[in-house]
Amino acid sequence: MFCHLILFMQHDQRFSELVLLRETFESGVTRDLSWRIAQLLALQTFLVERERDIAAAVHHDFRKSAAETFLTETGFLRGEIRFALKHLTSWMKPRRVSIPLIYQPAKASYSPEPYGVVLIIGAWNYPFNLSLAPLISAIAAGNCAVVKPSEHAPRSSALIAEGVGRYMDQSAIRVVTGGAEEAKALLDERFGYIFYTGSPEIGREVMLAAARHLTPLTLELGGKSPCIVEESVDIRVAARRIVWAKFLNAGQTCLAPDYVLVHEHREEELLHFMQEAITDFYGDEPRLSRDYPRIVNLDSFHRLKKLLDGSSAWCGGQSDQSERYIAPTILRGVTSDSPLMQLEIFGPLLPVIAYSDLSEALDFIRHQDEPLALYLFSSDRNVQERVVGNSRSGGVCINDLFFQAALHRLPFGGLGNSGFGAYHGRAGFDTFSFQRSLLRRSFFSDPSLRYPPYRWLKFRLLKPLVTFFQ
Ligand code: NAD
Repeated sequence: MFCHLILFMQHDQRFSELVLLRETFESGVTRDLSWRIAQLLALQTFLVERERDIAAAVHHDFRKSAAETFLTETGFLRGEIRFALKHLTSWMKPRRVSIPLIYQPAKASYSPEPYGVVLIIGAWNYPFNLSLAPLISAIAAGNCAVVKPSEHAPRSSALIAEGVGRYMDQSAIRVVTGGAEEAKALLDERFGYIFYTGSPEIGREVMLAAARHLTPLTLELGGKSPCIVEESVDIRVAARRIVWAKFLNAGQTCLAPDYVLVHEHREEELLHFMQEAITDFYGDEPRLSRDYPRIVNLDSFHRLKKLLDGSSAWCGGQSDQSERYIAPTILRGVTSDSPLMQLEIFGPLLPVIAYSDLSEALDFIRHQDEPLALYLFSSDRNVQERVVGNSRSGGVCINDLFFQAALHRLPFGGLGNSGFGAYHGRAGFDTFSFQRSLLRRSFFSDPSLRYPPYRWLKFRLLKPLVTFFQ
């Protein structure tokens, strides 16, 4: 009974907060360029002034190093804000379009308009980045926002709530902490737009909830991103880059290479250099490295441990439940029917599979759902064209990993099972805006040709006009 009362009070309070946000949006204040700039600067101040607290919070949640937190969270967000501030005026401008003769005299344009109060649901693995990068886009586009960070990074979520509350306009931007129940309660309400980051399973639930209110949405999901290593490569550089990308965040990255397909002639060398890179980056005992994070919770630890126990590690393979530690691990001899190849691994286990012909590798990839990213190492331009032309994914990066998602000028998003919609830079601004068309005509010239009755001659005249002079 008492529990129900608390839930009811929480719902009541949340509802009144939403009413306040809607009123703020209706007042028009968030549409002003000056408000948007002020909020982006306020967020920037939070990121700069509280950089140490942010690093400490993420470290507390899953032992990520301060350097990694800066590179993948605060640094990226500050770049995203700077980029938005630089381009906002031009993004907001209406675009004129030319008008066919039969509609003259008139002027036509379309402009990006905010959706209203939007809902952003973030995932835990880059807790600041995944909640605040969409917020940057939402504010830039002139929306009010409710942000729901993930409960699996509790210290980070609490700091996001505190920081946004202290630095930003509370009448327009709110943070709601909590887990699935809170997310579901929010989804019961009507929002102008929903932006969800997380697993494809929950993504489906979010889409069903959005359908109830016909709310447009973006789903940023995960998947099995492949990495092909062809014959013609600098194998040491390829190995170092793959190891860096895979074991960053202990493999808990939506964009991480899920598995490697290597040409059989280069397999031994690749494995050798990957092992060398693991030791270079994390030492002989990665557990002691300050740069190697932990698995976020025991559920994920047990899921990964089960995958590990069911296969034979070529290197790594150690684990320690008390710390939720799993060593950077490379696995060999993995087949397509192995449990490792059924779902996104989302942890520090990297299967390396040899192929003899590129078509074989491409077939292998085509049998999986569309991934968020596809990586290729090859110096051969024809091979590059062939792989890009014969595969599908949210994005592609050739001869490196991750940076396709770091550039503010490239849209970042998935396809099929890895989601739909995109953000970062202009793409984020466009995602949180709808294009409103405007046609302005004058009273001059009002030929009776357009009006009924449509007799035979009138209709004959109208036909070519409508068909050819548009
Ligand atoms: P998670 O458990 O943090 O969940 C994400 C969010 O969904 C949280 O805020 C959570 O509270 C909320 N949630 C949980 N149940 C819900 C429900 N029933 N309805 C509505 N919301 C609910 O994160 P996760 O799902 O474990 O994230 C891992 C997955 O996310 C992986 O598949 C990863 O690849 C993907 N991911 C994708 C991106 C991307 O940008 N495409 C980024 C990060 C993670």
